[in-house]
Amino acid sequence: MELLKERIIKDGIVINNSILKVDNFLNHQIDTSLFNEIGKEFKRIFSDVKVDKILTIESSGIAVASFAAIHFGFIPVVFAKKTSSSIIDENVYTSTVHSFTKNTDYIIRVSKKYLNNGERVLIIDDFLAKGCAALGLIDIIEQSGAITVGVATVIEKAFQKGREKIEKRGLRVESLASIEAFEGNRIIFK
Ligand code: 5GP
Repeated sequence: MELLKERIIKDGIVINNSILKVDNFLNHQIDTSLFNEIGKEFKRIFSDVKVDKILTIESSGIAVASFAAIHFGFIPVVFAKKTSSSIIDENVYTSTVHSFTKNTDYIIRVSKKYLNNGERVLIIDDFLAKGCAALGLIDIIEQSGAITVGVATVIEKAFQKGREKIEKRGLRVESLASIEAFEGNRIIFK
């Protein structure tokens, strides 16, 4: 998606040769016009697929998934929670995810009420790096008996090989901007 790549080049900051900071439009301030185009593009790419629901992970995935859901015809968005809460009851699916940006493991939770057997679920997230977040969401969908119809991500860091792990599970992966490498502050797209 050219518009997105141009924006990444304009505003992206490379940290430690592995993390892309895009707070200006994706992870802190949200460019709603760009998000609308991103949502439209996800729908275009998955126009051949029936999608009942979108599953994402808090917090940055929520806005991306919500804009996309509008283009999929106002379907529901469910987000996995990273913190336990007495408001979420015991009736949850859980999975453990390793965060490579924070170098810790955390548990994600989704209430059993919001994923149902046979539902066709598209996973959407802001970044695909090593694939841990996506694999955790896939695990939760499997536990519920729902079906993962694909994994859609705004920015893929292809050199971190998350795609391979997901495709090995027989699942489709789509990203709107795929980064091959960082060379100092330069961002090389595939
Ligand atoms: P993975 O689980 O695929 O290794 O990493 C994906 C998750 O980590 C995303 O949900 C995203 O929040 C975070 N992440 C991974 N790499 C980056 C990055 O370069 N920049 C930002 N802003 N977040 C990242």
